[in-house]
Amino acid sequence: MDPEIEDRVTTFGELGLVPELLAAVQDAGYTEPTPIQRDAIPRVLQGRDIIGLAQTGTGKTAAFTLPIVQRLLGGPRRTRVLVLTPTRELAAQVEASFVKYARHAAVSVIPVYGGVPIEPQERALRAGVDVVVATPGRLLDHLERQNVCFDALEFLVLDEADRMLDMGFAPQLNRIVEQLPRYRQTLLFSATMPAEVEALSRKYLRKPVVVQVGRRSEAASTVTHAVYPVPRERKSALLIELLRNDQMDSVLIFTRTKHGADRVVRHLDRAGIAAIALHADKSQSQRTRALESFKSGAARILVATDIAQRGLDVSGISHVINYDVPQQPEDYVHRIGRTGRAAQTGDAFTFMSADEIAMVRTIERMLGQPIPRISVPGYDFGTVAAA
Ligand code: AMP
Repeated sequence: MDPEIEDRVTTFGELGLVPELLAAVQDAGYTEPTPIQRDAIPRVLQGRDIIGLAQTGTGKTAAFTLPIVQRLLGGPRRTRVLVLTPTRELAAQVEASFVKYARHAAVSVIPVYGGVPIEPQERALRAGVDVVVATPGRLLDHLERQNVCFDALEFLVLDEADRMLDMGFAPQLNRIVEQLPRYRQTLLFSATMPAEVEALSRKYLRKPVVVQVGRRSEAASTVTHAVYPVPRERKSALLIELLRNDQMDSVLIFTRTKHGADRVVRHLDRAGIAAIALHADKSQSQRTRALESFKSGAARILVATDIAQRGLDVSGISHVINYDVPQQPEDYVHRIGRTGRAAQTGDAFTFMSADEIAMVRTIERMLGQPIPRISVPGYDFGTVAAA
Protein backbone atom coordinates (compact mmCIF):
# COMPACT_ATOMS: atom_id res chain seq x y z
CA MET A 1 0.00 0.00 0.00
CA ASP A 2 1.15 3.52 -0.68
CA PRO A 3 1.94 4.90 2.80
CA GLU A 4 0.99 8.42 1.71
CA ILE A 5 -2.50 7.28 0.87
CA GLU A 6 -2.82 5.42 4.13
CA ASP A 7 -1.77 8.45 6.17
CA ARG A 8 -3.70 11.14 4.39
CA VAL A 9 -6.95 9.73 3.17
CA THR A 10 -9.80 9.18 5.52
CA THR A 11 -12.89 10.27 3.62
CA PHE A 12 -14.53 9.20 0.38
CA GLY A 13 -14.16 12.76 -0.92
CA GLU A 14 -10.40 12.56 -0.58
CA LEU A 15 -10.37 9.46 -2.75
CA GLY A 16 -11.43 11.58 -5.71
CA LEU A 17 -15.10 10.67 -5.88
CA VAL A 18 -17.43 13.25 -7.41
CA PRO A 19 -20.68 14.51 -5.78
CA GLU A 20 -22.95 11.96 -7.53
CA LEU A 21 -20.99 9.13 -5.93
CA LEU A 22 -20.47 10.85 -2.60
CA ALA A 23 -24.23 11.27 -2.32
CA ALA A 24 -24.74 7.55 -2.97
CA VAL A 25 -22.13 6.65 -0.36
CA GLN A 26 -23.87 8.92 2.09
CA ASP A 27 -27.26 7.37 1.26
CA ALA A 28 -25.71 3.97 1.97
CA GLY A 29 -24.72 5.26 5.40
CA TYR A 30 -20.97 4.71 5.03
CA THR A 31 -18.89 7.12 7.04
CA GLU A 32 -15.45 6.14 5.85
CA PRO A 33 -13.88 3.93 3.22
CA THR A 34 -12.74 0.43 4.11
CA PRO A 35 -9.03 -0.36 3.53
CA ILE A 36 -9.62 -2.01 0.14
CA GLN A 37 -11.71 0.98 -0.95
CA ARG A 38 -9.03 3.41 0.19
CA ASP A 39 -6.40 1.56 -1.82
CA ALA A 40 -8.38 0.57 -4.89
CA ILE A 41 -10.64 3.56 -5.68
CA PRO A 42 -7.88 6.08 -6.57
CA ARG A 43 -6.09 3.42 -8.64
CA VAL A 44 -9.21 2.51 -10.59
CA LEU A 45 -9.93 6.20 -11.20
CA GLN A 46 -6.38 6.55 -12.55
CA GLY A 47 -7.08 3.80 -15.04
CA ARG A 48 -4.83 1.15 -13.53
CA ASP A 49 -5.38 -2.58 -13.73
CA ILE A 50 -5.81 -4.03 -10.27
CA ILE A 51 -5.46 -7.32 -8.47
CA GLY A 52 -7.54 -7.02 -5.31
CA LEU A 53 -6.79 -9.66 -2.74
CA ALA A 54 -9.87 -9.38 -0.63
CA GLN A 55 -12.69 -11.59 0.40
CA THR A 56 -16.36 -10.80 0.67
CA GLY A 57 -17.08 -8.63 3.67
CA THR A 58 -14.20 -6.20 3.10
CA GLY A 59 -16.23 -3.77 1.00
CA LYS A 60 -14.59 -4.96 -2.22
CA THR A 61 -17.75 -4.60 -4.32
CA ALA A 62 -17.97 -0.87 -3.65
CA ALA A 63 -14.19 -0.67 -4.20
CA PHE A 64 -14.72 -1.40 -7.89
CA THR A 65 -18.33 -0.29 -8.40
CA LEU A 66 -17.93 3.29 -7.16
CA PRO A 67 -14.97 4.29 -9.37
CA ILE A 68 -16.39 2.45 -12.38
CA VAL A 69 -19.70 4.30 -12.11
CA GLN A 70 -17.77 7.55 -11.86
CA ARG A 71 -15.80 6.72 -15.01
CA LEU A 72 -19.07 6.02 -16.84
CA LEU A 73 -20.62 9.40 -16.02
CA GLY A 74 -21.58 11.44 -19.03
CA GLY A 75 -20.37 8.83 -21.49
CA PRO A 76 -22.26 7.18 -24.34
CA ARG A 77 -24.87 4.47 -23.66
CA ARG A 78 -22.87 1.47 -24.84
CA THR A 79 -21.94 -1.67 -22.97
CA ARG A 80 -18.76 -0.44 -21.35
CA VAL A 81 -18.51 -2.71 -18.31
CA LEU A 82 -18.56 -6.47 -17.91
CA VAL A 83 -18.39 -8.06 -14.47
CA LEU A 84 -17.99 -11.83 -14.35
CA THR A 85 -18.91 -13.70 -11.19
CA PRO A 86 -18.92 -17.39 -10.28
CA THR A 87 -22.52 -17.62 -9.03
CA ARG A 88 -25.88 -16.07 -9.77
CA GLU A 89 -26.20 -14.97 -6.16
CA LEU A 90 -23.03 -12.94 -6.47
CA ALA A 91 -24.11 -11.58 -9.85
CA ALA A 92 -27.38 -10.42 -8.31
CA GLN A 93 -25.51 -8.82 -5.45
CA VAL A 94 -23.05 -6.98 -7.67
CA GLU A 95 -25.95 -5.76 -9.78
CA ALA A 96 -27.62 -4.45 -6.62
CA SER A 97 -24.41 -2.59 -5.78
CA PHE A 98 -24.36 -0.90 -9.16
CA VAL A 99 -27.97 0.13 -8.70
CA LYS A 100 -27.20 1.44 -5.22
CA TYR A 101 -24.07 3.39 -6.11
CA ALA A 102 -25.45 4.68 -9.42
CA ARG A 103 -28.54 6.16 -7.76
CA HIS A 104 -27.54 9.67 -8.70
CA ALA A 105 -26.08 8.73 -12.07
CA ALA A 106 -27.73 7.63 -15.29
CA VAL A 107 -26.09 4.22 -15.49
CA SER A 108 -28.01 1.07 -16.35
CA VAL A 109 -27.10 -2.46 -15.34
CA ILE A 110 -28.48 -5.93 -15.97
CA PRO A 111 -27.68 -9.26 -14.38
CA VAL A 112 -27.26 -12.22 -16.71
CA TYR A 113 -27.24 -15.73 -15.27
CA GLY A 114 -28.61 -19.17 -15.90
CA GLY A 115 -31.54 -20.95 -14.29
CA VAL A 116 -34.01 -18.30 -15.47
CA PRO A 117 -35.52 -17.78 -18.95
CA ILE A 118 -33.07 -16.34 -21.46
CA GLU A 119 -35.53 -14.21 -23.48
CA PRO A 120 -36.03 -11.30 -21.05
CA GLN A 121 -32.24 -11.04 -20.71
CA GLU A 122 -31.96 -11.15 -24.48
CA ARG A 123 -34.41 -8.28 -24.86
CA ALA A 124 -32.66 -6.22 -22.20
CA LEU A 125 -29.22 -6.79 -23.71
CA ARG A 126 -30.43 -5.93 -27.17
CA ALA A 127 -32.03 -2.73 -25.89
CA GLY A 128 -28.57 -1.61 -24.73
CA VAL A 129 -27.12 -1.32 -21.26
CA ASP A 130 -24.00 0.18 -19.66
CA VAL A 131 -23.07 -2.62 -17.29
CA VAL A 132 -23.50 -6.38 -17.68
CA VAL A 133 -22.98 -8.54 -14.60
CA ALA A 134 -22.86 -12.15 -15.67
CA THR A 135 -21.99 -15.72 -14.87
CA PRO A 136 -19.75 -17.15 -17.61
CA GLY A 137 -21.98 -19.93 -18.97
CA ARG A 138 -25.07 -17.83 -19.60
CA LEU A 139 -23.03 -14.96 -21.02
CA LEU A 140 -21.55 -17.33 -23.61
CA ASP A 141 -25.07 -18.34 -24.65
CA HIS A 142 -25.83 -14.68 -25.25
CA LEU A 143 -22.59 -14.12 -27.13
CA GLU A 144 -23.41 -17.06 -29.39
CA ARG A 145 -26.81 -15.55 -30.10
CA GLN A 146 -25.11 -12.21 -30.72
CA ASN A 147 -27.31 -10.55 -28.15
CA VAL A 148 -24.53 -8.40 -26.80
CA CYS A 149 -21.67 -6.52 -28.37
CA PHE A 150 -18.55 -5.70 -26.41
CA ASP A 151 -16.84 -3.52 -29.04
CA ALA A 152 -17.08 -0.50 -26.74
CA LEU A 153 -16.09 -2.36 -23.58
CA GLU A 154 -13.77 -0.41 -21.28
CA PHE A 155 -13.86 -2.37 -18.02
CA LEU A 156 -13.65 -6.06 -17.26
CA VAL A 157 -14.04 -7.15 -13.65
CA LEU A 158 -13.32 -10.73 -12.63
CA ASP A 159 -14.92 -11.10 -9.24
CA GLU A 160 -13.94 -14.02 -7.02
CA ALA A 161 -11.54 -15.24 -9.67
CA ASP A 162 -10.30 -18.11 -7.50
CA ARG A 163 -13.84 -19.36 -7.12
CA MET A 164 -14.49 -19.15 -10.87
CA LEU A 165 -11.42 -21.29 -11.54
CA ASP A 166 -12.40 -23.74 -8.76
CA MET A 167 -15.74 -24.14 -10.48
CA GLY A 168 -14.02 -25.01 -13.76
CA PHE A 169 -14.83 -21.79 -15.62
CA ALA A 170 -11.34 -21.31 -17.11
CA PRO A 171 -12.33 -22.36 -20.67
CA GLN A 172 -15.43 -20.16 -20.60
CA LEU A 173 -13.42 -17.21 -19.31
CA ASN A 174 -10.95 -17.63 -22.14
CA ARG A 175 -13.67 -17.76 -24.73
CA ILE A 176 -15.28 -14.62 -23.32
CA VAL A 177 -12.10 -12.58 -22.89
CA GLU A 178 -11.05 -13.45 -26.46
CA GLN A 179 -14.08 -11.50 -27.62
CA LEU A 180 -13.29 -8.34 -25.64
CA PRO A 181 -11.23 -5.36 -26.80
CA ARG A 182 -7.57 -5.66 -25.80
CA TYR A 183 -7.40 -2.06 -24.65
CA ARG A 184 -9.51 -2.09 -21.57
CA GLN A 185 -9.08 -1.79 -17.83
CA THR A 186 -9.17 -5.12 -16.01
CA LEU A 187 -9.80 -5.58 -12.31
CA LEU A 188 -9.38 -8.99 -10.74
CA PHE A 189 -10.62 -9.75 -7.24
CA SER A 190 -9.79 -12.95 -5.44
CA ALA A 191 -9.76 -14.06 -1.83
CA THR A 192 -6.76 -16.31 -2.45
CA MET A 193 -3.92 -16.23 -4.95
CA PRO A 194 -3.15 -19.78 -6.06
CA ALA A 195 -0.86 -20.27 -9.09
CA GLU A 196 -3.86 -20.57 -11.44
CA VAL A 197 -5.11 -17.10 -10.49
CA GLU A 198 -1.62 -15.63 -10.89
CA ALA A 199 -1.45 -17.17 -14.36
CA LEU A 200 -4.86 -15.74 -15.19
CA SER A 201 -3.83 -12.28 -14.06
CA ARG A 202 -0.62 -12.43 -16.12
CA LYS A 203 -2.70 -13.28 -19.14
CA TYR A 204 -5.49 -10.74 -18.76
CA LEU A 205 -4.06 -7.77 -16.85
CA ARG A 206 -1.53 -5.10 -17.81
CA LYS A 207 0.96 -3.94 -15.17
CA PRO A 208 -1.52 -4.50 -12.35
CA VAL A 209 -1.24 -2.89 -8.95
CA VAL A 210 -1.84 -5.38 -6.16
CA VAL A 211 -4.06 -4.14 -3.38
CA GLN A 212 -4.38 -6.43 -0.48
CA VAL A 213 -6.36 -6.39 2.72
CA GLY A 214 -4.35 -7.86 5.54
CA ARG A 215 -2.38 -11.02 5.23
CA ARG A 216 -3.22 -13.51 2.52
CA SER A 217 -5.85 -16.03 3.53
CA GLU A 218 -6.53 -14.12 6.70
CA ALA A 219 -9.90 -14.73 8.27
CA ALA A 220 -12.05 -11.73 9.11
CA SER A 221 -10.60 -10.57 12.39
CA THR A 222 -13.89 -9.67 14.00
CA VAL A 223 -15.10 -13.26 13.92
CA THR A 224 -14.90 -15.46 16.97
CA HIS A 225 -14.11 -19.04 16.05
CA ALA A 226 -14.80 -22.25 17.89
CA VAL A 227 -14.66 -25.94 17.11
CA TYR A 228 -17.12 -28.33 18.72
CA PRO A 229 -15.87 -31.91 18.79
CA VAL A 230 -18.98 -34.06 18.30
CA PRO A 231 -19.74 -37.52 16.89
CA ARG A 232 -21.32 -37.31 13.45
CA GLU A 233 -24.60 -38.85 14.62
CA ARG A 234 -24.92 -36.29 17.43
CA LYS A 235 -24.44 -33.22 15.24
CA SER A 236 -28.11 -32.45 14.75
CA ALA A 237 -28.80 -32.81 18.48
CA LEU A 238 -25.91 -30.45 19.26
CA LEU A 239 -27.20 -27.98 16.71
CA ILE A 240 -30.64 -27.97 18.27
CA GLU A 241 -29.08 -27.54 21.70
CA LEU A 242 -27.03 -24.53 20.57
CA LEU A 243 -29.92 -22.93 18.70
CA ARG A 244 -32.15 -23.28 21.74
CA ASN A 245 -29.71 -22.01 24.32
CA ASP A 246 -27.52 -19.42 22.68
CA GLN A 247 -28.30 -15.91 21.63
CA MET A 248 -28.34 -16.42 17.88
CA ASP A 249 -30.22 -13.87 15.82
CA SER A 250 -29.50 -15.01 12.31
CA VAL A 251 -27.69 -18.20 11.61
CA LEU A 252 -26.22 -19.49 8.39
CA ILE A 253 -25.53 -23.23 8.52
CA PHE A 254 -23.34 -24.96 5.94
CA THR A 255 -23.60 -28.62 5.05
CA ARG A 256 -21.47 -30.60 2.64
CA THR A 257 -24.35 -31.91 0.53
CA LYS A 258 -27.83 -30.93 -0.60
CA HIS A 259 -29.25 -33.98 1.13
CA GLY A 260 -27.40 -32.96 4.25
CA ALA A 261 -29.00 -29.50 4.06
CA ASP A 262 -32.47 -30.96 3.63
CA ARG A 263 -31.85 -33.41 6.47
CA VAL A 264 -30.80 -30.63 8.84
CA VAL A 265 -33.91 -28.62 7.94
CA ARG A 266 -36.06 -31.68 8.68
CA HIS A 267 -34.36 -32.31 12.03
CA LEU A 268 -34.81 -28.70 13.05
CA ASP A 269 -38.39 -28.76 11.88
CA ARG A 270 -39.12 -31.79 14.06
CA ALA A 271 -37.61 -29.91 16.99
CA GLY A 272 -39.95 -27.00 16.30
CA ILE A 273 -37.22 -24.74 14.89
CA ALA A 274 -38.05 -23.13 11.56
CA ALA A 275 -35.30 -23.18 8.95
CA ILE A 276 -35.05 -22.95 5.19
CA ALA A 277 -32.67 -24.62 2.76
CA LEU A 278 -30.70 -23.00 -0.07
CA HIS A 279 -28.98 -25.22 -2.59
CA ALA A 280 -28.62 -25.94 -6.28
CA ASP A 281 -31.58 -28.36 -6.44
CA LYS A 282 -33.95 -25.52 -5.61
CA SER A 283 -35.37 -23.50 -8.45
CA GLN A 284 -34.14 -19.96 -8.94
CA SER A 285 -37.37 -18.55 -7.53
CA GLN A 286 -37.13 -20.78 -4.45
CA ARG A 287 -33.55 -19.66 -3.95
CA THR A 288 -34.47 -16.01 -4.34
CA ARG A 289 -37.37 -16.39 -1.91
CA ALA A 290 -35.18 -18.21 0.62
CA LEU A 291 -32.57 -15.49 0.46
CA GLU A 292 -35.13 -12.73 0.71
CA SER A 293 -36.81 -14.13 3.75
CA PHE A 294 -33.42 -14.63 5.41
CA LYS A 295 -32.30 -11.11 4.54
CA SER A 296 -35.52 -9.59 5.78
CA GLY A 297 -35.17 -11.45 9.04
CA ALA A 298 -38.41 -13.40 8.46
CA ALA A 299 -36.35 -16.59 8.50
CA ARG A 300 -33.76 -16.79 11.22
CA ILE A 301 -31.99 -19.91 10.04
CA LEU A 302 -30.73 -20.68 6.56
CA VAL A 303 -29.13 -24.02 5.76
CA ALA A 304 -26.98 -23.87 2.67
CA THR A 305 -24.50 -25.78 0.57
CA ASP A 306 -21.55 -24.13 -1.15
CA ILE A 307 -23.60 -22.09 -3.58
CA ALA A 308 -24.24 -19.60 -0.83
CA GLN A 309 -20.71 -19.65 0.35
CA ARG A 310 -19.42 -16.59 -1.36
CA GLY A 311 -20.96 -13.33 -2.20
CA LEU A 312 -23.96 -13.82 -0.02
CA ASP A 313 -24.50 -10.36 1.36
CA VAL A 314 -26.59 -10.72 4.44
CA SER A 315 -25.62 -7.99 6.81
CA GLY A 316 -25.80 -8.74 10.46
CA ILE A 317 -25.47 -12.52 10.43
CA SER A 318 -24.69 -13.35 14.00
CA HIS A 319 -23.52 -16.92 13.46
CA VAL A 320 -22.09 -19.19 10.84
CA ILE A 321 -22.14 -22.88 11.68
CA ASN A 322 -20.12 -25.36 9.68
CA TYR A 323 -22.21 -28.44 10.24
CA ASP A 324 -19.59 -30.29 8.20
CA VAL A 325 -15.97 -29.20 8.17
CA PRO A 326 -15.27 -27.52 4.80
CA GLN A 327 -13.37 -29.72 2.35
CA GLN A 328 -11.01 -26.94 1.31
CA PRO A 329 -9.28 -24.84 3.95
CA GLU A 330 -9.89 -21.68 1.87
CA ASP A 331 -13.60 -22.40 2.03
CA TYR A 332 -13.45 -22.02 5.77
CA VAL A 333 -12.24 -18.45 5.37
CA HIS A 334 -14.86 -17.67 2.75
CA ARG A 335 -17.66 -19.09 4.82
CA ILE A 336 -16.80 -17.19 7.91
CA GLY A 337 -16.47 -14.12 5.71
CA ARG A 338 -20.29 -14.19 5.81
CA THR A 339 -20.24 -13.07 9.39
CA GLY A 340 -17.97 -10.30 10.66
CA ARG A 341 -18.81 -8.34 7.52
CA ALA A 342 -17.65 -4.76 7.45
CA ALA A 343 -16.49 -4.93 11.04
CA GLN A 344 -19.53 -6.40 12.68
CA THR A 345 -18.75 -9.10 15.14
CA GLY A 346 -19.91 -12.64 14.68
CA ASP A 347 -19.28 -16.20 15.72
CA ALA A 348 -18.22 -19.09 13.53
CA PHE A 349 -18.76 -22.55 14.94
CA THR A 350 -17.48 -25.73 13.35
CA PHE A 351 -18.79 -29.17 14.21
CA MET A 352 -15.93 -31.66 14.04
CA SER A 353 -16.46 -35.41 14.07
CA ALA A 354 -13.49 -37.73 14.65
CA ASP A 355 -12.89 -38.21 10.92
CA GLU A 356 -12.71 -34.45 10.40
CA ILE A 357 -9.92 -33.74 12.88
CA ALA A 358 -7.20 -33.76 10.21
CA MET A 359 -9.13 -31.23 8.09
CA VAL A 360 -9.53 -28.88 11.04
CA ARG A 361 -5.76 -29.10 11.65
CA THR A 362 -5.14 -28.14 8.03
CA ILE A 363 -7.45 -25.15 8.43
CA GLU A 364 -5.64 -24.11 11.59
CA ARG A 365 -2.28 -24.30 9.81
CA MET A 366 -3.62 -22.02 7.11
CA LEU A 367 -5.01 -19.55 9.64
CA GLY A 368 -1.71 -19.70 11.50
CA GLN A 369 -3.52 -20.16 14.77
CA PRO A 370 -5.42 -22.84 16.63
CA ILE A 371 -9.20 -22.58 16.86
CA PRO A 372 -10.50 -22.93 20.40
CA ARG A 373 -12.33 -26.19 21.17
CA ILE A 374 -15.61 -26.05 23.01
CA SER A 375 -16.66 -29.23 24.71
CA VAL A 376 -20.39 -29.52 25.36
CA PRO A 377 -20.96 -32.18 27.99
CA GLY A 378 -22.69 -35.20 26.55
CA TYR A 379 -21.80 -34.24 22.97
CA ASP A 380 -18.00 -34.15 22.82
CA PHE A 381 -16.79 -37.47 21.37
CA GLY A 382 -14.01 -37.48 23.98
CA THR A 383 -16.50 -37.43 26.83
CA VAL A 384 -19.08 -39.55 25.01
CA ALA A 385 -16.47 -42.26 24.37
CA ALA A 386 -15.26 -42.09 27.97
CA ALA A 387 -18.77 -42.31 29.38
P1 AMP B 1 -18.53 -6.64 0.12
O1 AMP B 1 -17.19 -7.03 0.68
O2 AMP B 1 -18.39 -5.86 -1.11
O3 AMP B 1 -19.40 -7.86 -0.05
O4 AMP B 1 -19.25 -5.67 1.17
C1 AMP B 1 -19.56 -6.07 2.45
C2 AMP B 1 -20.60 -5.21 3.13
O5 AMP B 1 -20.02 -4.01 3.60
C3 AMP B 1 -21.78 -4.80 2.26
O6 AMP B 1 -22.95 -5.04 3.01
C4 AMP B 1 -21.57 -3.32 2.04
O7 AMP B 1 -22.81 -2.65 1.94
C5 AMP B 1 -20.83 -2.89 3.28
N1 AMP B 1 -19.89 -1.78 3.05
C6 AMP B 1 -19.15 -1.55 1.94
N2 AMP B 1 -18.41 -0.45 2.09
C7 AMP B 1 -18.63 0.02 3.34
C8 AMP B 1 -18.14 1.15 4.09
N3 AMP B 1 -17.23 1.98 3.59
N4 AMP B 1 -18.61 1.33 5.34
C9 AMP B 1 -19.52 0.46 5.85
N5 AMP B 1 -20.02 -0.61 5.21
C10 AMP B 1 -19.59 -0.83 3.96
